[in-house]
Amino acid sequence: MSEELKAWPFKEAQKIAHKLDVTQKAGKALKHDDVLFETGFGPSGLPHIGTFAEVARTTWVRYAFEHLGERETRLYAFSDDMDGLRKVPENMPNKELIAAHLGKPLCDIPDPFGEEDSFSGYMNAKLRRFLDSFGFAYAFKSSKDQYRNGVFNEGLLRILECYDAVRDVIIPTLSKENREAWSPFFPVCEQCAKVYSTRITATHPQEGTVSYACDQSFRGIEACGHTGTLPVTDGNVKVGWKVDWALRWYVFGVDYEMYGKDLIDSAELSAKIVRVLGGEPPVGFFYEMFLDENGAKISKSVGSGLTIDEWLQYGPLESLAWFIFQNPTKAKKLHFDVIPKSVDDYLDARRKFGQAEGGDVNSPIWFIERDKLAAGESISYESDISYSMLLNLVNVLNTDDKSIVWNYILRYDESARADHGVIDDMIDRALRYYRDFVLPTKQYALPGEEAMAALNQLIAFLESYEGSSAEDLQSATYAAGKENGLALSDWFRTMYRLLLGQERGPRLGTFIHLYGVKETVALIKERVAAGQ
Ligand SMILES: [Zn+2]
Repeated sequence: MSEELKAWPFKEAQKIAHKLDVTQKAGKALKHDDVLFETGFGPSGLPHIGTFAEVARTTWVRYAFEHLGERETRLYAFSDDMDGLRKVPENMPNKELIAAHLGKPLCDIPDPFGEEDSFSGYMNAKLRRFLDSFGFAYAFKSSKDQYRNGVFNEGLLRILECYDAVRDVIIPTLSKENREAWSPFFPVCEQCAKVYSTRITATHPQEGTVSYACDQSFRGIEACGHTGTLPVTDGNVKVGWKVDWALRWYVFGVDYEMYGKDLIDSAELSAKIVRVLGGEPPVGFFYEMFLDENGAKISKSVGSGLTIDEWLQYGPLESLAWFIFQNPTKAKKLHFDVIPKSVDDYLDARRKFGQAEGGDVNSPIWFIERDKLAAGESISYESDISYSMLLNLVNVLNTDDKSIVWNYILRYDESARADHGVIDDMIDRALRYYRDFVLPTKQYALPGEEAMAALNQLIAFLESYEGSSAEDLQSATYAAGKENGLALSDWFRTMYRLLLGQERGPRLGTFIHLYGVKETVALIKERVAAGQ
């Protein structure tokens, strides 16, 4: 392959290829001929933007690996629905109904929404609809099914066989008082049906069973006191979260899994455990978490931060994908402010992608627009109309009438018709963004005395100007400030406050060109008159 593969998903794909190579050279058999990717979900809450980000990023690595042309790939979307519910989540109906079942596996708790057979059944259905709505290709795997249908039996018996060695991995990471009691296994109590309230009292590797006592009350969840002996197989016993990953990796032969930075330690421990069992950990990759507007980590349980639906009000899905594609290992603020720039960066990339001969495999567009490209659809975008330009136009027009916005655009650039669909959609979102975020913060201000001379010079220029060059208009604006002794940043801010009621704004030459020279003069005069 002659092309240089620089985009981060290719780096990840190359790591996978390398690992398969090393494994085979060491004489170890691979679990399957294709390459298995996995992403995991905790179904105690609804899918959110982090879910989308993880599946999208994993899917991009799949595309990259497939481009290497070595093997087929698969993706498992795994739901931890055997996990016990430790507290009633916020934003749930029928809280009392759920509270009565605290401590039980999520798949054994009724659906508070009354739609599916269980709490996790509801969440799993939501998850699948969510993933389907974005067109992700995946196979859904429920933890419950793997346990209760015996898929995990082999792995569970192996953990029982290697019981002490698995303990030896985890014990040093625990405080002294917790070491004695720690076990990878949590039986689901036969009497009260709770998990995590049980404690292993003996293991019987020959019989494939464990003895337990249900005597670990915690945070308001009562243990019932029952004691018994259960097979570790067929869903009678679940492994604790520190062993979950290792069990899956071992049984499925997962080749690639990414996770948030907060799980690096867990991933390292899981890698050790899977090796103890005789398996191989997947290639791992950690991504940074999203931050809110104040730079604090976005908390899933509190539900702060932007939702996908909110993003889609103001920017297309591809602009969100663009945002998520950039530097996954860098923490990013996820906030309404980032939407306009993401839309414009995405459109820029489309423009460049269309100009590159045969496309560019290292462009995010190659990944984000994969389905359209595969279907032979055009993704070119030729116009230089940007989202921020539209926002400024909508701002001065102060309208919610789309046809007025279109009139201005076509007068500025007739060729914008060729990109009608994209621009039309962008106008809708720009109108919404303007109404929700810009309008409430608008504050017009008149120029101070020292800026009035510059403003008059600019008006005089515009009134006599007959050309149609954004460059001329930019130079004249610049000159008006400079020749009147103004600091340019102050001068431009003065113009933004006067015309847009904002502290920041567009390149003025481009803006005047778009809005119209005569119209700009009229607007300046109107604003000055209104402010006096
Ligand atoms: Zn019990």
